[in-house]
Amino acid sequence: MQIHETIAGVRAAMRTAGRVVFVPTMGNLHDGHIALMRQARAHGNAVVASIFVNRLQFRPGEDFDKYPRTFEADCQRMVEAGVDHLFAPAEVELYPQAQSYYIEPPAEHASILEGEFRPGHFRGVATVVMKLFSIVQPQAALFGKKDYQQFMVLSAMVREFGMSIEVIPGETVRAPDGLALSSRNGYLTEAERAEAPRLYRVISELAAEARSGARNFADLEARAMNILRINGWLPDYVAFRKKLDLQSPSAHDSGLVVLAAARLGSTRLIDNLEV
Ligand code: AMP
Repeated sequence: MQIHETIAGVRAAMRTAGRVVFVPTMGNLHDGHIALMRQARAHGNAVVASIFVNRLQFRPGEDFDKYPRTFEADCQRMVEAGVDHLFAPAEVELYPQAQSYYIEPPAEHASILEGEFRPGHFRGVATVVMKLFSIVQPQAALFGKKDYQQFMVLSAMVREFGMSIEVIPGETVRAPDGLALSSRNGYLTEAERAEAPRLYRVISELAAEARSGARNFADLEARAMNILRINGWLPDYVAFRKKLDLQSPSAHDSGLVVLAAARLGSTRLIDNLEV
């Protein structure tokens, strides 16, 4: 695996790389990231991953400073997963001066759900991904459905800008007890880790109800939030949405997804399930 720390270095390597498939990450790799990298192999000749903890997508007071950085272990896992190139720039390489041009996703995509509770988050994500895309110039890129809204925002960005990049989703990888893998799971205490799979159980029940015809979305969402609260969580939202645009469904809509975000102690977890 070639490691590139500079924009010039990765650009030079990409010139002869053939069809490039890109998997951007913030590092601290787990099996969810690795599954995306293995899946990438089937979509091109060169698998390129990146590790960059992007300050722009964190709000003041969020976990930018304490976000786990495990570069050596990450490299080992990427070699095993068959990654050909790693782009791992330092912050000064990607942001030599404070970024002043941004990609601003529309409010109907970026101010709902995660965007309501993390204002500016998707602007930070879209800006860094646009920048990474213009450096790496991949023909395809993979993003996990674990971050369902992020996948929707980035697909829409690529489409609206007419970029020649195939955006491919990866299924959410879970622990045996159902908890979606996340770098943030490492913040959980032992007791919280035991409680954490409840988030998946709660949305699984909601998805099952909707599959068997329930359409009282507001009641189901309120009940789920209540179950979480009773068990010590602080839910931000539990919401049925249309898969396509993440807008609220009416009773006759199909193609739904149920999304949830909740805090357990000081850790904020998100998850979702297609109905
Ligand atoms: P992150 O490092 O958290 O920015 O994630 C990098 C990529 O991995 C994003 O496309 C995520 O959606 C994806 N990802 C994160 N967790 C999982 C998971 N449990 N299963 C599948 N993909 C994931």
